Amino acid sequence: MHPDLVAISNLWQLDHQNDRLREEHERLATAVRAAAAALKAAEATTLGATAERDRVTTATRANDRELADYADKRERTRKMIDTGTAPDYPAAERQLAQVLEIVDRLETVALELLDSAEIAATALAAAGREQAQAVTALADARVALGARDAPIRSELTELIAKRPPLADEVRAELRATYAQLRQRKRPALVNTVENMCQTCQTRIPTQRVVETTLARAIHNCPGCGAWLLP
Ligand SMILES: [Zn+2]
Repeated sequence: MHPDLVAISNLWQLDHQNDRLREEHERLATAVRAAAAALKAAEATTLGATAERDRVTTATRANDRELADYADKRERTRKMIDTGTAPDYPAAERQLAQVLEIVDRLETVALELLDSAEIAATALAAAGREQAQAVTALADARVALGARDAPIRSELTELIAKRPPLADEVRAELRATYAQLRQRKRPALVNTVENMCQTCQTRIPTQRVVETTLARAIHNCPGCGAWLLP
């Protein structure tokens, strides 16, 4: 390989390793953020499900009390009618009819509340499971980040220390091109197969490929600008 290409390749490998480590760290950190957000959402769901269960419980208690009151009233009115102690018989009959109607309505409400209570309990149990899973997922994501955080940082520190001498090996007039490719997040080196750049599929003049292969010169791909590898 041409010595200029060797120098570029060494620098590129280091920078590429640097990119990979940063990407890995970012991926792990993103996973922690996503898991934390998922837990927050699960907690909100649990809170909502708890509020709904409490609302149903309160409504059920109130309905049960009202139902008990009207059941009492029904019994008292019936007794007055049955024993003939009602001061105003037709009024007592009307009252009984009214009370029976109310009891009927309250019993329907009681059944509806029973359904609502079951739905609320199911939702709360599901929310609890989801929250427990979210807690585990967040813990796992934190462990994964924690396990790689220090090694990645120390490796990056090493790479940063190793870089200046490698960068010095690249001739000054090639460094600007290299920096441009890095800035554009393009690979600095590309393989060719049958005179085609494997990154951008541009056809490379045969002479450039031959000179590269024989290490007589270094050339860039006319398409993506990366240096051609032999
Ligand atoms: Zn190319």
